[in-house]
Amino acid sequence: MNLLVTGGAGYIGSHTVRALQRAGYTVTVLDNLSSGHAEALPDGATLAQVDLLDYSAVKDTLARVRPDAIVHFAALIEVGESMKEPARYYRNNVTGSLNLLQANAETVKAPIVFSSTAAVYGDAQSTPIPEDAPKAPTSVYGETKLMTEHMLNAFDRAHGIRHIKLRYFNVCGAQPGGQIGEDHPNKTHLIELALLTALGQREKMMIFGEDYPTPDGTCIRDYIHVADLADAHVLAVKALLDGAPSNAYNVGLGHGFSVRQVLDAVDDVLGTPLKREIAPRRAGDPPSLVADSHRIQQELHWTPQFTDLREIIRTAWDWHRTHPHGFKS
Ligand code: UDP
Repeated sequence: MNLLVTGGAGYIGSHTVRALQRAGYTVTVLDNLSSGHAEALPDGATLAQVDLLDYSAVKDTLARVRPDAIVHFAALIEVGESMKEPARYYRNNVTGSLNLLQANAETVKAPIVFSSTAAVYGDAQSTPIPEDAPKAPTSVYGETKLMTEHMLNAFDRAHGIRHIKLRYFNVCGAQPGGQIGEDHPNKTHLIELALLTALGQREKMMIFGEDYPTPDGTCIRDYIHVADLADAHVLAVKALLDGAPSNAYNVGLGHGFSVRQVLDAVDDVLGTPLKREIAPRRAGDPPSLVADSHRIQQELHWTPQFTDLREIIRTAWDWHRTHPHGFKS
């Protein structure tokens, strides 16, 4: 079976490409390498260096590869940046996805696994958050993902193209063994920044806001290991290829940690405390995002392997300390 993975050279993409190969799929990666790394691709994965905004190149790639299913990661992913550069986010994430959906509808009509996000829920009224909770993104990033979800629904209704939306919570960690890990052009993720601070690349950790309505005043997130998330994609691809109808699944562990608790766990793993400072809130951040992930556990039999935050941080630390400058190390 042949798969097309957009954004497969990125952090989650490159872990998922490996998991898909291990499950026996042949993978072509469509990536413009704007933030991904060709070095992150494993042997056997073919790279089509194409931008989703180039409609005819996307269509040509689909017509040539003729994938049985598509896994769609390619997107800009930073909440803070999305608030400052909305046009870039709408263009890349919404127009890019629309090009993929339309080119797919005009060629192979392959089912799609879509990389969505907990950010579609915005300021959740209840926690943990089930899939049918109201969607009210607080960031442009979340908005672009929700708009793409709506487009997927429309393409299912109009063309019978099925999809699975995976709404990720906070993805972190690295493949045990240290070959690949997080390496974004702009570093914004909490655990990655903390570990780069430990490597002396930053002076201190900033805590963005301590006046949120949470027990210690800092934001709460549900941190999930990237290898477990990659497995969720393999299960979603299999379900679609077995004829499953369109659906949405949260992917998280179901318990949250505050920014302070994450930094405490990082300190434990490092065996030494990082310097911290309180900073203003970051625009677009909701106070708490914790997954109710019963649906994916029951329906797709997803079973996360990494349930201990310190263990997850340890895998990330193995990657960063052996690759202090990411793939360029
Ligand atoms: N955060 C922080 N300091 C940092 C980076 C992140 O306090 O240097 C906070 C951020 O405001 C959010 C949480 O950590 O509440 C997780 O942020 P991250 O960017 O890792 O993921 P996101 O929740 O935006 O997907």
